[in-house]
Amino acid sequence: MKLVTFQIDGDRHLGLVEGEGVVDLTVADTGLVDMVDLIGLGDDGAARVAAASREGPRLLLSQVRLLAPIPRPRKDIAAVGRNYLEHAREFSDSGFDASEKQSVPNNPIFFTKAPTSVVGPDEAIDTANDPTSTTDYEGELGVVVGRPGIRIRREEAMSHVFGYTVVNDVTARDLQKRHVQWHIGKSPDTYCPMGPFLVTADEIPDIAAMWLRTRVNGELRQEAPIADLIFDIPTLIETLSSVMTLEAGDIIATGTPVGVGIGFNPPVYLAPGDVVEVEIDGIGTLRNPVV
Ligand code: MG
Repeated sequence: MKLVTFQIDGDRHLGLVEGEGVVDLTVADTGLVDMVDLIGLGDDGAARVAAASREGPRLLLSQVRLLAPIPRPRKDIAAVGRNYLEHAREFSDSGFDASEKQSVPNNPIFFTKAPTSVVGPDEAIDTANDPTSTTDYEGELGVVVGRPGIRIRREEAMSHVFGYTVVNDVTARDLQKRHVQWHIGKSPDTYCPMGPFLVTADEIPDIAAMWLRTRVNGELRQEAPIADLIFDIPTLIETLSSVMTLEAGDIIATGTPVGVGIGFNPPVYLAPGDVVEVEIDGIGTLRNPVV
């Protein structure tokens, strides 16, 4: 299933994408309004989507305003730093952290992004929220948790994945550096574009074979297969859940490949008027203007 959250007359609806169209699930089943609630229903949710999709009105995707699939996550988005080898090296070479011991980590580096940073496709990344004018893009695969659990073994981890989306882990580099802990530099309002689609895991049996590409004003900046992740999805789920309960609708941004703006010498940051597109095979293209 390719699911969306969209807005009509100020109200949120859930939709099932079919080709260039979208079936309005909320009109057919008024209980289907919130993506996290739907994910929490498990198999029953899939059955209700199937039933609602037979009755709901069909709209054109181009005629609805898509929001992020999960417009307001219930907790911070978990994100992973330096999870692609060549990106870890470019980040190190940028001199970002002169005290670092090694460019490639032994364990996943986790940080979080505030739920208020999420925006949907085509919504603006507002650089007015970065007083340091060092706004950078990071195209990433977003993994959305389905079945909750704690102490999930890596062999079981993929059965806890509901699906995938596209995330742009937009970052204010100087804030990321100045405050040491990355949270503030990663969390300005509008600095977590997400979407447009949430594609269920059954549609992409081999996520590692998918490629991610980021373009700025049409220029290719990042291109890597998900297989290049240093710490793969099962490892990330096993590590996080070793101490905390993962819940339906939790989002893990898995890290970004080489090619971010801070990797250029001198760095090339985003500026008003730019357009960033992050594309992942089988999932979709997330496009956001910069203002
Ligand atoms: Mg990132």
